Amino acid sequence: MSLRHYLPALQSRFAAGVRALCPPVACVSCGATAEGAGLCPPCREDLPFLGAACPACALPLAADAAPGVLCGVCRRRPPPQACTVATFLYEEPVVGLIQGLKFQGRLLHARLLGELMAERLQVLMQSRAGDLPRLLVPVPLHRRRQRERGYNQALEMARPIAARLGIPLDYGSCRRVLATARQSDLDVKARRANVRRAFRARWRPGFEHLAVVDDVMTTGHTLAEVVRCLQRAGAGRVEVWVCARAPLREGDC
Ligand SMILES: [Zn+2]
Ligand SMILES: [Zn+2]
Repeated sequence: MSLRHYLPALQSRFAAGVRALCPPVACVSCGATAEGAGLCPPCREDLPFLGAACPACALPLAADAAPGVLCGVCRRRPPPQACTVATFLYEEPVVGLIQGLKFQGRLLHARLLGELMAERLQVLMQSRAGDLPRLLVPVPLHRRRQRERGYNQALEMARPIAARLGIPLDYGSCRRVLATARQSDLDVKARRANVRRAFRARWRPGFEHLAVVDDVMTTGHTLAEVVRCLQRAGAGRVEVWVCARAPLREGDC
């Protein structure tokens, strides 16, 4: 086993130690006195939970859309995943929380967002008892990016979900083998090419049904590539669980 396998566990222990020593007292969004999961009541009220959405890609749909109806993009070209579950729209204060996590080292935001995802997923999964994924696979970072950041935000968000739903986390079977450019720096066409063959996976027990976890889904090209990579490795039913869904920008798809 290389150090790469132990690092996530060490980072998590370190983060747990820091949390134990410095419990949060202020709302992570506005600084007022927080309750529960680290948000003050008004900020919690303002959270942009996703309403009606396409079951395949979680694109927001009109509130009166019939349940199960696909968006126009998925009707033309269905994504490789069986379904996509997003907890939030990618709007404030979720945008600020995710950016603080990714670019300012605010690891606490991962626990908060992961717990909010876990609460929502637990409710959704009640109607699917016996049909839960057997593994959670956070979208891996290339080892160079992970070294720079010190942690993988998708893995940190997946921890509370794994704990609450009792699903094991797998952060070893799927690797990012190409250090690709940031998707946010590229136009839509370049995004698809940028992530092609960027991941490698090997089959393991649990791959019969799994859920890929990530922070934000925009065009979905990275997630689709991870799903295809897992399917090439023999995965069966692959779901996508993301914290936030950004609406498609003009010219996408
Ligand atoms: Zn607040
Ligand atoms: Zn769709």
